[in-house]
Amino acid sequence: MSLKVPFHLPLVGEDEKREVLESLESGWLTAGPKVKAFEAAFAEHVGARHAIAVSSCTAALHLALLGAGVGPGDEVLTTPLTFCATVNTILETGARPVLVDVDPRTLCMDPEAAARAITPRTRALLPVHYAGYPAPLGAFRDLATKHGLALVDDAAHALGTAVAGVPVGLGTLATCFSFYATKNLATGDGGMVTTDDDELAARLRKLALHGMSRDAWKRFTADGSWRYDVEMLGYKYNMTDPAAALGLAQLRRFQAMQERRLALAGVYDEAMEALGLVAPPRPDVEEGTHAWHLYVVRLVAGGWSFGRDRLIEELKARGIGTSVHYIPIHHHSFYQRELGVRPGDFPHCDAAADTMLSLPLYPRMSDDDQRLVLEALEACRA
Ligand SMILES: *Cc1c(COP(=O)(O)O)cnc(C)c1O
Repeated sequence: MSLKVPFHLPLVGEDEKREVLESLESGWLTAGPKVKAFEAAFAEHVGARHAIAVSSCTAALHLALLGAGVGPGDEVLTTPLTFCATVNTILETGARPVLVDVDPRTLCMDPEAAARAITPRTRALLPVHYAGYPAPLGAFRDLATKHGLALVDDAAHALGTAVAGVPVGLGTLATCFSFYATKNLATGDGGMVTTDDDELAARLRKLALHGMSRDAWKRFTADGSWRYDVEMLGYKYNMTDPAAALGLAQLRRFQAMQERRLALAGVYDEAMEALGLVAPPRPDVEEGTHAWHLYVVRLVAGGWSFGRDRLIEELKARGIGTSVHYIPIHHHSFYQRELGVRPGDFPHCDAAADTMLSLPLYPRMSDDDQRLVLEALEACRA
């Protein structure tokens, strides 16, 4: 059965098709000129000195943590309300993820709880801009400075977010973006690390391509050389040119896409209270601006005769796709075994996780699509 309004549909237009066709005809299927152009355009968009295009945000996080010097024996503080990739990449470095409860209002990692979790082994802080809400980077920067920690942000939801007026992608050691199919800017799969640190950027480029000496990608061009040196243990994390071509086209329409997200969020906001749902929090001016990657609502306690799980099924039966962001990290069997965590350990996260669901929100949604979502919610309550 196909849904009337799926949880997500990508926006791919003529510009995307033209860019991808151009890249296919160029002879470059892997990292080449489109990747270079996308990196340059992205760095300029964010205002960062360096943007390193990679195959996913998972790759970006792994590289950024390695670049920050995180390894065995270290602890990295992060949130339990995130996608598994955030925590897995910490484990991949050999370090131990230490989960820290979220602020009950913003659902981003709580800086005061983070301060209490710092030990002599703590090496880095890895906050997530949850749903696109600006995480309090100022407070995390203070903690990082005071305790000599690296600050890396998971901005998989946060292209378009600004923290206290500063675009996400600046103001931390490194920022990691996702261009996964459902994210605010989509290349199918893809990711980016931004940083202002020249040395870190050079190191990340090497780590992303087998640890080979700089500009190894040029070795098949006229101005390249067949010679290269493997200088360290690296990975195969590069982006490909057709993906970067999609990214270039998506970046050109990014502002318009964000405006559509904001408009849809505004219409949802007006309707939530009457539906027995709590609208997501809105950041105030000091906090920054929201990228509206996700529209996460919570069921009002006592407002519904049934719970969240049933609501998801009822909406699906009416042709509306929804999702849950997330099943918390400490509810998964692997992390329970690996980290000794269990449901209930992070009360603010647990309370939100049981009553939350994400409604469809994407630029391709029409006003009619959104009306169908709201009507279906009303019908579920009747
Ligand atoms: C999507 C996502 C990731 C992983 O992104 P990929 O590009 O799919 O690797 C990491 N963290 C968060 C919070 C995400 O939502």
